[in-house]
Amino acid sequence: MHVAVLGAGYAGVTLTRTLERQLPESAEITLVDERDTHLVQHLLHRAVRNPEIEDQLQVPLEECCQRATIREATVESVDADEGRVNIDDGTLSYDIGAICLGARTAYYGLSGVRSRATPLKRLEDAREIRSAFLDCCEDGGRVVVGGAGLSGVQVAGELADLAREEGAESAVDVVLLEQKADVAPGFPEPFQNAVADALDCRGIDVRTGTTVTGADETTLTTDAGTTIEYDQLVWTGGITGQPSLGDTRRQVQSTLRLGRRTFGLGDAVRVIDDEESAFRRQHRVRLGRHLSRQRISPRWQIAASAASSRGCRGMSIAHVAG
Ligand SMILES: Cc1cc2nc3c(=O)[nH]c(=O)nc-3n(C[C@H](O)[C@H](O)[C@H](O)COP(=O)(O)OP(=O)(O)OC[C@H]3O[C@@H](n4cnc5c(N)ncnc54)[C@H](O)[C@@H]3O)c2cc1C
Repeated sequence: MHVAVLGAGYAGVTLTRTLERQLPESAEITLVDERDTHLVQHLLHRAVRNPEIEDQLQVPLEECCQRATIREATVESVDADEGRVNIDDGTLSYDIGAICLGARTAYYGLSGVRSRATPLKRLEDAREIRSAFLDCCEDGGRVVVGGAGLSGVQVAGELADLAREEGAESAVDVVLLEQKADVAPGFPEPFQNAVADALDCRGIDVRTGTTVTGADETTLTTDAGTTIEYDQLVWTGGITGQPSLGDTRRQVQSTLRLGRRTFGLGDAVRVIDDEESAFRRQHRVRLGRHLSRQRISPRWQIAASAASSRGCRGMSIAHVAG
C-alpha cells in the first residue's frame, strides 16, 4: 500500500507521524511539499517582533519524519478518485491520499487591497511586516491590520509590543479592523472578551463592525462610506483554497473524504459536521499532549505544545497576552 500525504504543514506532518507509528512497515508513505521545511505557522506573528526565533519556526522535514519518503515538489492538481497527483516534476499515484495543502490569504476581490497589503503566511511576510513597521516607528504613522481572527489579533499585539520596545508608542497607531461585531469571531464570548481586553491594554485601536471595501496608496474605504488613512497595511482578513484545489476550500463531512481514495485535512478543507469537529478538536488536544511528552527536539516541542493549545483554542490569547 502506498499512502501519499500532500502538504507538510501542521495537518500533513501530524498525520504523517501518526501513520508512521500506526501503519505496518510494509506500507509506503510519501510526504510531498514544495519546501523542505515545516513552518510552525501559528507562531509566525512572533517573528515580526522577534526575528531570532525564525530558526525555531522552520523544522527540516527530515527531522519531522521517521520513515516517510520526502518529496520536494509542487502539487498542481489531484484526481481524488483515481489517486493520482500531478506535480511539477511528473505524477504520483497512491492507494490512499490526504490533501493537507493548507490555504492562502483571501482578498475577496477588494479593490487595491491585494497589491498594497502584506499578508502573514510565510516568514518572508513576517520580515516585510517588521521592516515596514520599523520605518513607521522611526517616521511615525499608522499601521492598519485588516481582520481580527487569530492571526490578526496576534500580529496586532506583536506590533504594539514592538512599538513599545522601540520607544515609538506615541508615534505609531496600531488599528485593528474587523467586519464582525467582535474580535476573534466564532470563538466563545469569554475568549473574545479576554482578547479584547488584551488588545485594549496594548492601546490598540480596535474597530469592529467595520468592513473594508477597498484601498488606494494611502487610504482604506469602508462600507459605511468612511475612510481610514494608513502608512502600512497588513491583511489577515481570511483564507481561501489553494490554486491546485481550484481556489476553494472544499467542504467535507466528518469522514474528511474528498474522493474514492482521498481525504482532506487542515485548512485545505472546511468540515461541516460540528459534532464531529468537536471530537476532532478533542483528539488534537490528546495528540498534542502526546507529542509534548515525546523525546523530541525543542522545535517540535514548540509545535506540539501549540498543537495541544490549538485543540482547546486557547493559544492565541497567550500570544496576545505575551
Ligand atoms: C500568524 C498566524 C497565527 C495563527 N494562530 C493560530 C492560533 O493561535 N490557533 C490556531 O488554531 N490556528 C492559528 N493559526 C492558523 C494555523 O496556523 C493553521 O490553521 C494551520 O497552520 C493549518 O495547517 P495546515 O497543515 O492545514 O496548513 P499549512 O500549515 O498552511 O500547511 C500547508 C503546507 O502545504 C504546502 N503546500 C501548499 N501548496 C502546495 C503545493 N501546491 N504543492 C506542495 N506543497 C504545497 C505548504 O508549503 C505547507 O507546508 C494561525 C495562522 C497564522 C498565519
